[in-house]
Amino acid sequence: MAELAADQHVRYIVTVEKKKDSFESLVMEHIRLNGAYWGLTTLDLLHKLHAVDAAEVVDWIMSCYHPESGGFGGNVGHDPHVLYTLSAVQVLCLFDRLDVLDIDKVADCQMLLDCKMRMDHFLVISGVKSTLVFCCVGALAITGSLHHIDRDLLGWWLCERQCKDGGLNGRPEKLADVCYSWWVLSSLIMIDRVHWIDKEKLAKFILNCQDKENGGISDRPDNAVDIYHTYFGVAGLSLMEYPGVKPMDPAYALPLDVVNRIFLRK
Ligand code: ZN
Repeated sequence: MAELAADQHVRYIVTVEKKKDSFESLVMEHIRLNGAYWGLTTLDLLHKLHAVDAAEVVDWIMSCYHPESGGFGGNVGHDPHVLYTLSAVQVLCLFDRLDVLDIDKVADCQMLLDCKMRMDHFLVISGVKSTLVFCCVGALAITGSLHHIDRDLLGWWLCERQCKDGGLNGRPEKLADVCYSWWVLSSLIMIDRVHWIDKEKLAKFILNCQDKENGGISDRPDNAVDIYHTYFGVAGLSLMEYPGVKPMDPAYALPLDVVNRIFLRK
């Protein structure tokens, strides 16, 4: 099986972060905060968060903050939205810098963070079924309400997402796509049915989507890489306990040590 080209992926992410005039940066201009979450979480999963200047990142995040509403814009000078506020809080969690937030101000959103913001976040990015399943299962897991789900029936539908090439799709008759490794696997873990998936075949599919020379992961083999699929590819491997990748929390979409740090402090 191909190896995870971790060093190349780290280099790719750091380069995308710095190259503000690249095509990818321009395309992501309005969702730069989401891009920061995808890229920086990947770095943390690969034990390389120190490759970026934490103070610089936190300063930039706070420059997207709108004190009057308590929300964050997708970039400096952009209107606040619940979608970017979630990414801002997640990145601040990575750096253990929630102290820079006026928690009371963001608190109105904060209570909903695990449900509504997460819903908005993922619904905006992709409106397909597996994404919706993740939003529902994640919200139920966080609120301790998973008993409302028929785990065997949902587990069966989710496992049916595995295609012949080992990758997962979002709904029947669609091609496999690396990002569903996250949506489907995280849901299966939350309902305790992840052992129904052929993990080895899925890991092979993700690893075959790597640009082993220049770093980055694409949606499917031989396509152009992007930061979104790089994140979801590494996150998928994390959920399958791939060696050298930090374990991730399937509901909060953050490395497990970050989530534990936050909740232990509460
Ligand atoms: Zn995708």
